[in-house]
Amino acid sequence: MKCPTCGGNCVRYPEQVLDDIFQMYMACSSCPPDPLCDKNAPLYEKIDAGTGKCAKCGKRHLDHVTGHVLTLLKEKGLFPPDASLKEVGTPLIAFGYQVPYPPRLHEKSLVLIMDSVTEEMAGIITANVPEIKGVIKRKGHPSKSVGLSDTGSTPHTYELLSGCDMRCDVVSSIFGELCIYKNQSVIHIEFNNTKVKKIEALYINGELDNAVVVDGFCGPGTLSLLCALGGAKKVILNDAWLPAVRNAILNIKANSALLGAKIVFELTEYTKLVGDEPVLMAKAGGRTEILVYHGDIRKLAKAEGECDICLIDTFPSVNPAEYVLACRDFAKKTVII
Ligand SMILES: [Zn+2]
Ligand SMILES: [Zn+2]
Repeated sequence: MKCPTCGGNCVRYPEQVLDDIFQMYMACSSCPPDPLCDKNAPLYEKIDAGTGKCAKCGKRHLDHVTGHVLTLLKEKGLFPPDASLKEVGTPLIAFGYQVPYPPRLHEKSLVLIMDSVTEEMAGIITANVPEIKGVIKRKGHPSKSVGLSDTGSTPHTYELLSGCDMRCDVVSSIFGELCIYKNQSVIHIEFNNTKVKKIEALYINGELDNAVVVDGFCGPGTLSLLCALGGAKKVILNDAWLPAVRNAILNIKANSALLGAKIVFELTEYTKLVGDEPVLMAKAGGRTEILVYHGDIRKLAKAEGECDICLIDTFPSVNPAEYVLACRDFAKKTVII
């Protein structure tokens, strides 16, 4: 599939990703040993593109990659000579799953979120460090969620300075794995398995069987697409943040074979960032009927009528109580995620 952000091959079908994932970040038999860097200590060693590179598989240890970035930052005078690896930023592997060891990285396999970086520096990093696929500048405190907290607030976004910010989280569940793609400069960063457990609990209780499920704050679609895998008859995704809706539609397409559903309608000529009255953005048909809305969840009942389960997954900073009240009007059961 063509990446909607960069036109490259960032978006791959889950069948290929799952075939590769267990080898993707693993050292081969010829890889140099772990450099065992202390991430909090000053790193004086100069690291270039050849440092630590395996002659056989071509991969490098994460510390050599971030160390290479740090060397460039020091050469350009953005960081002091005694800066440590930890100060570089937050590295996110392009295909995220629980890797039980420090990842060995191949080309364009790391998105870096940085606090101290300029656009020029970001360009230098993506041009010189082969493993970096994108550089994002963080705005505000790391604890502040990226995206839209509710329809009345201003969206909080990071800034993609260079390369591509499209990455994927491989979500494992008892129904199987999904590849959930997200534009990481505008979508909340999340590694939260407890949410998946709540969907699995609905399945174990038989509540997903032939159910109509509304995912009121769907984000890139993780929970609703799991409900589809878990036997829901119809899932209705809704989000007021357009980038989330676009990613959710991309994820229906990417996971189409697993979901047994194909997009039959998509509204492409649409640019309103924050939704209000629900607008149907996409529809998929097949084993499960999937609808994607851009709008305020409190107004969705008018468009879709009753449902069996409504999932309410607000940002940690938002009190879900008001949404629970509104959703009780049209949902037989509300589940706070
Ligand atoms: Zn891309
Ligand atoms: Zn190797």
